[in-house]
Amino acid sequence: MTKPEIANRKSQIENRKSRILVVEDNPLNMELVVDLLELEGYSALQATTGEEGLEMAHAEKPDLILMDMQLPGLDGFDATRRLKNDPATRDIPVVAITAYAMRGDAEKMYQAGCAGYIPKPIDIHQFAQTVARFLKRGEG
Ligand code: MN
Repeated sequence: MTKPEIANRKSQIENRKSRILVVEDNPLNMELVVDLLELEGYSALQATTGEEGLEMAHAEKPDLILMDMQLPGLDGFDATRRLKNDPATRDIPVVAITAYAMRGDAEKMYQAGCAGYIPKPIDIHQFAQTVARFLKRGEG
């Protein structure tokens, strides 16, 4: 391969990287999640409020959204509902990140439109598997 061919191939691979939007208001959690995603070779987009998350979902059309449920203002439940009620964003899978783990809470997340959830504190060994599973599911 010539140098331009290699550069072209590299940019093709770069473009194929899944882009994941993280909506999280806690800086430490955000840092952990972004680090874990980048370690897996994903490209991470960051939003710190529900409102910003909606804007970025529209502008960037990520492959997957990881949504903190406890956000100030527009919370993760409402943000997910809005994403699912909007034809432009409804096909993007949303996975909740949450400290809620009670039975009724899971139901509430599914009703809002979440495809699944990752419990807090985040299990770093399960995290990559969960993300890969929901990315794959969204492909169909
Ligand atoms: Mn939070």
